[in-house]
Amino acid sequence: MTQSKKQTTSHNGLQIKYVSDGGRIIVIGAGFGGLATAIRLQAAGLPVTLLEAREHPGGRAGQIQDQGFTFDMGPTLITAPHLLEELWQLAGRDLREDVELIPLSPFYRILFADGRSFDYWGIAEQDEAEIARFEPRDVQGYRAFLAETRHIYERAFVDLAGQPFLAMGDLLRVTPELIRLGGHRSVYSFVSRYFRHPYLRMVFSFHPLFIGGNPFRASAIYSIVPYLERLGGVHFARGGMYTLVQAMEKLFCSLGGEVRYNAPVEQILLKERQAKGVRLQDGTALSAGAVVANSDVAQTYLKLLPREYLPGSIERYHYSMSCFLLYLGVKREYTHLRHHTIIMPERYRKLIHEIFDGRGLPADLALYLHTPTRTDATMAPPGCESLYVLAPVPNLAHGIDWTRETPAFRDRIIQFLEQQCGLTGLSENIVTEQMFTPLDFASQLRSHQGAAFSIEPTLLQSAYFRPHNRSNMFDGLYFVGAGTHPGAGIPGVLLSADLTSRLVCNDIVRV
Ligand SMILES: Cc1cc2nc3c(=O)[nH]c(=O)nc-3n(C[C@H](O)[C@H](O)[C@H](O)COP(=O)(O)OP(=O)(O)OC[C@H]3O[C@@H](n4cnc5c(N)ncnc54)[C@H](O)[C@@H]3O)c2cc1C
Repeated sequence: MTQSKKQTTSHNGLQIKYVSDGGRIIVIGAGFGGLATAIRLQAAGLPVTLLEAREHPGGRAGQIQDQGFTFDMGPTLITAPHLLEELWQLAGRDLREDVELIPLSPFYRILFADGRSFDYWGIAEQDEAEIARFEPRDVQGYRAFLAETRHIYERAFVDLAGQPFLAMGDLLRVTPELIRLGGHRSVYSFVSRYFRHPYLRMVFSFHPLFIGGNPFRASAIYSIVPYLERLGGVHFARGGMYTLVQAMEKLFCSLGGEVRYNAPVEQILLKERQAKGVRLQDGTALSAGAVVANSDVAQTYLKLLPREYLPGSIERYHYSMSCFLLYLGVKREYTHLRHHTIIMPERYRKLIHEIFDGRGLPADLALYLHTPTRTDATMAPPGCESLYVLAPVPNLAHGIDWTRETPAFRDRIIQFLEQQCGLTGLSENIVTEQMFTPLDFASQLRSHQGAAFSIEPTLLQSAYFRPHNRSNMFDGLYFVGAGTHPGAGIPGVLLSADLTSRLVCNDIVRV
């Protein structure tokens, strides 16, 4: 086992908290965050062991295959593909040789309660024509919105997401700029300055939901998502998003990394407030020079570390909503659905409020449909549809008994799709069906409160206020993934892997 000593100097602009002279790095969890960190560290020459509780990698990005149908279980779209390209490059390979990214056009179709629809292309001319159908005066607003979100992207995304915010001073330095950019306002209030039509306000404000945020209280900084989508496009990985996970695992192994599945970590081993390794559920102890937790941040503190060190913030944080997912293999096609179709509720503000802050199940539905067969014929047998239905729902802190509610909620969704979304005959055409409920987020993914996106992204739960990428309590312990800075979503998690691995590399001096 290696020696360590305290150090206060800085290196590459990052303050060094502690110096280890090496040893194997253990990464707990093979989600996108764990995989990307493992690749980065292994590529930097540090030996990594990746420990995953389940029998496969990917975390939320799992896959189901049944009777010729393939379903992605979590993420369905890739934005900011340059972050993946960068990961492959530093491992000495080309992403496009391993994964085929299919650009989606349109990015999505949005259906409103009165039957109207909006196709969002990410191409100025087509988007402006769509906007003009609803409110011609909003075309000008759209241009101003894009210019402003580009400005926020250049100032905020690059500066805020690219530094680890380990000290309050880091936040204070950027606060004036954050206020200038309107970061204290909500996404919805920001969007409403540019769009008059209520439907267009929905179209340009729902994006925080993609990362577990409430459009009515997520910081306006998150309004950059439409700009980010236009910049790099919205993509799907041929064969399903899981092919990306498999390619990341292969990349890591090709660099000499070690992965162990069915290896749940039960405890992070400490010696004098320094992480020294882990103990697996089967009792095996593994020593390490540093430990990186991609496991749920709250659960890491609650279950893997001594209770006496539990920060009060873990219980005070507001956790994101959960999701109820249906994966339906259907023996017919619904050609009015695009690759992504979003079904907006009539009561946008009220429903979102009930999902985030209410008690019990809301009376109405907002749905996100993924129909990859529209783009990739390999996802289902000919003439069939691989259909993924996502309903955002309250997390487990909201007192819903899912063991009782699940069958009725499933039926309500199917009926709604048949009667209000044009999926006639859906129930009699289902040939295979699976579900993933908030209880599965908690039990299978070990997610605190069954939250789908960990800690909700609000201004006061972001940057310095989020769990840091490097523990300020234990030397040699790091965090990566949706619950840490900068946050959820594949781009956020890949950025956190960059920050975390830079901190690890900085703190490790090989002798
Ligand atoms: C339904 C859904 C749809 C989404 N759609 C999109 C999308 O289209 N585009 C997008 O960019 N993002 C999307 N997201 C968000 C994105 O998928 C996540 O933010 C991201 O995948 C989270 O990655 P992660 O590395 O933080 O953690 P996870 O994926 O949660 O992985 C953590 C891993 O740690 C393992 N683990 C936990 N505890 C232990 C332990 N004690 N020992 C060992 N292993 C452990 C878990 O088994 C898991 O494999 C979606 C999320 C959901 C839920």
